[in-house]
Amino acid sequence: MTGLARWASDPARSRGRRHAEPSPTPRTEHQRDRDRIVHSTAFRRLVYKTQVFVNHEGDLFRTRLTHSLEVAQLGRSMARLLRLNEDLVEAIALAHDLGHTPFGHAGQDALHACMAPYGGFEHNLQSLRVVDELEQRYAGFDGLNLSFEAREGILKRCARPVAERLEQQEPGGIGRRFLDGTQPGLEAQLVNLADEIGYNAHDIDDGVRSGLLTLAQLENLPLVDRFRAEALHDHPTLDGQPRRLLAETLRRLLSAQVYDVVAETTRRLSAADPADADAVRRLPPLVAASEQVKHDAASLKRFLFAALYRHPQVMATTDCARAVVKELFEAYLSSPAELPADHAARADTPRAVADYIAGMTDRFAQREHHRLTGRQAFDTGMA
Ligand code: MG
Repeated sequence: MTGLARWASDPARSRGRRHAEPSPTPRTEHQRDRDRIVHSTAFRRLVYKTQVFVNHEGDLFRTRLTHSLEVAQLGRSMARLLRLNEDLVEAIALAHDLGHTPFGHAGQDALHACMAPYGGFEHNLQSLRVVDELEQRYAGFDGLNLSFEAREGILKRCARPVAERLEQQEPGGIGRRFLDGTQPGLEAQLVNLADEIGYNAHDIDDGVRSGLLTLAQLENLPLVDRFRAEALHDHPTLDGQPRRLLAETLRRLLSAQVYDVVAETTRRLSAADPADADAVRRLPPLVAASEQVKHDAASLKRFLFAALYRHPQVMATTDCARAVVKELFEAYLSSPAELPADHAARADTPRAVADYIAGMTDRFAQREHHRLTGRQAFDTGMA
């Protein structure tokens, strides 16, 4: 493919799919990956799944879908500047959260606790399960049969016992790098960073919009305050317009981080000078932010954790969310007949229950919880 750097993933040299298929010409292999993800059921459900706020709390907050689109945008911008494979970056970004449970991290933690006696639950691995097994759209195979490179990017983290199991099922495949301690391709590395850059900025935005964070609190954050001062300097009239001032601040914050990653990654790439996309996997991480931005971003993250993710109001909804997931799990486990027929027919009931709950949207989980327990978990006025 023309225009790509020699260390970019070349779709013509893909390690291929688990089930051999004819070439998608005139599309490339990674365009096909991206297209399959966009048309999947799990992708459509992202619109009603949340990150920090529960879906019924407001229409303006990020959902998993808008988050994934923002990650794809940030990732593609950086990929183009670095001459990496934009289609692959987009595919990984759009798929990276497919395995998330309803109710964000609270849902994931609750499901993990329920599944502890049965092998646990991990959202990265679940994203892989969605694209490898759970989607049912093709005559010849389960899942979406994505390329190795897309699957490698989707499985961002993986515990050693899981990697060992994957290695047994697929020798030299997707689990191998967690055993060898090697890196994924540059496109996968890039989406990891785009994800972080994206949620740090949009969680500030949603936090302020919800009233849980104040602009005054943000003044103690060097990374944010620098861009707030810059925006005010460029546009003094923004002083009385907090919403626009925040937008101008976050816009600058995003751009600065994107260009910082591009500069640092370019520096690392020219120093390491990898021969091709595969050589990258044996080198230390090459897609990275500068030390200064890394340091500032870490303090931003600590701030968000303490001020937003642990905010009493957020904690109160996450407590409800945890209870919904736990009670759903217990209800289905004790009465598998309540599951849809295809899930009920599976031999491994706990995993079938976990797959079913993980696929739910926030509102469907609430409706099912109400149906099975007769109780209203959230005070939302919806049944
Ligand atoms: Mg994400």
